[in-house]
Amino acid sequence: MTSEQFRRIWFRFGELVTEHRDELNRLDAAIGDADHGTNLARGLAKVAADLGADGSPTHLAASCRQVGMALLSTVGGASGALWGSALLRAAGALPEAETCDTATAVAAARQAVDAIQSRGHAELGDKTMVDVWRPALALLEASVAEGMSGRKAAVAVAERAVTLADETAPLVARRGRASYLGARSAGHVDPGSVSTALFWRAVADIVATS
Ligand code: ADP
Ligand code: MG
Repeated sequence: MTSEQFRRIWFRFGELVTEHRDELNRLDAAIGDADHGTNLARGLAKVAADLGADGSPTHLAASCRQVGMALLSTVGGASGALWGSALLRAAGALPEAETCDTATAVAAARQAVDAIQSRGHAELGDKTMVDVWRPALALLEASVAEGMSGRKAAVAVAERAVTLADETAPLVARRGRASYLGARSAGHVDPGSVSTALFWRAVADIVATS
């Protein structure tokens, strides 16, 4: 992965979240407080402004830290703290360099998922973004271990992430705001899982075309 690809992933993710903002808000209205699309779109606008600013860092670790700080300070809600922690932890696995190999990028993704779980204490099946992040990471690691290119693996993960997000519908929420609804949270797709699938689509869109 190059730092240019890293930046473009965040611009693309911002575009996708803006396109899907109302849908994410509607999903959050059903089991939360209707702000998930607005929260993420606001944070990603700040990320894009920071990454595009004159003098912004060009190395992977510094860029990743910059994204994490922007998300932490502007997204708000539960998802802001989780995405912020994820990126700050991932930065520790990335080099102060313009490029890294696929294994290093995958290791950074693992750090991000571990941070989401240590910060939010959600396990698989709790109807949170972890229900997409954890199996998506497992597929990424298995695909790369089998010798698949990072590019092909990203496309496979992006496709699987859409299914994983859909599969949160029957679950009963045990973490976050949706857990206040108890059994009534079943029958609705988790908004943070859908935005996580959009992130993987952004990754696939950028690495598959550059
Ligand atoms: P808030 O719930 O504070 O309004 P958002 O609406 O931005 O924040 O984000 C809600 C999403 O955050 C949920 O759909 C879920 O995927 C995710 N989430 C909430 N709590 C947790 C948690 N403890 N661990 C992992 N993900 C969580
Ligand atoms: Mg919300």
